[in-house]
Amino acid sequence: LALVGGFNQVQHLCNGFLPQNDLKIPVTGIRSGGLSQEQFNKILDKLEKYYTPIVAAKGGNYHVNRLWEDETVNASADRQGKIWNLNMYGGLARYSSLGEDGYLLVGCHETGHHLGGAPKSSGWNSSSWASNEGEADYYSTLRCMRYILQNEDNVGYVNSHPVDLVLRQSCESAYADVNAQSICIRSGMAAMNVAMIFHDLKKDAELPNFNTPDPAQVTETDDSHPATQCRLDTYYQAAICVHEAKTELSDSDYHVGTCTDESLSGVRPRCWFLPNSSLQTLAPQASR
Ligand SMILES: [Zn+2]
Repeated sequence: LALVGGFNQVQHLCNGFLPQNDLKIPVTGIRSGGLSQEQFNKILDKLEKYYTPIVAAKGGNYHVNRLWEDETVNASADRQGKIWNLNMYGGLARYSSLGEDGYLLVGCHETGHHLGGAPKSSGWNSSSWASNEGEADYYSTLRCMRYILQNEDNVGYVNSHPVDLVLRQSCESAYADVNAQSICIRSGMAAMNVAMIFHDLKKDAELPNFNTPDPAQVTETDDSHPATQCRLDTYYQAAICVHEAKTELSDSDYHVGTCTDESLSGVRPRCWFLPNSSLQTLAPQASR
């Protein structure tokens, strides 16, 4: 979608879930993995079921554009007045290694641009009301995956799928409840699914791994897409962030309803996020 006639009618949020790429995966051709149209619709049905009322309560119209025929290997979000759009292209859904949970995570990321709260993107098209890329990732496994998977057989899922042992251990030590553990593991594996796609498209030298967090430390919060390992770290930390998920996230204060104690796990990684406490020049703040 483009800006129309110089008027800012369409406000893009997410430039794309994936790194910019020229891949096209048309509907025609022999499927070699990826989702069927039925699976694509099933995932998008879940997003609509859970998020339509939430967005309506905020005065918006949650609108999932099911662009199955479109061969674009990506997804995006934008707003047109009260219409909060997710643009979900069939090309990405048909990507050979993408699974259902990975695609749910994509939809959760796009939803996170609308609902993830602070930090907001300051640089992109002045969409200061949009959560930035790192935050959209953080929101995905902090809230959206937990919310949508809450009533599924997550224990059964984890028991019948390959699971990373580092991830499993972290989830089991973070949560006492076995369903919460399983949602955490399932979310982490969905994150690994999409991280491997980032890896493919970016031709990264290293494979993403739960055991090798990105050592980078930004000097200011980065609003753009973080590196592959950094994105996996974000999904992973949000999945193990133990918090009160009923607390609504804040558009101005990133502490609200999230994990911000840097001595504990679950915080936004420093490879894209600079906490206020790291700014030595800031005036002392009231204790929270
Ligand atoms: Zn995005």
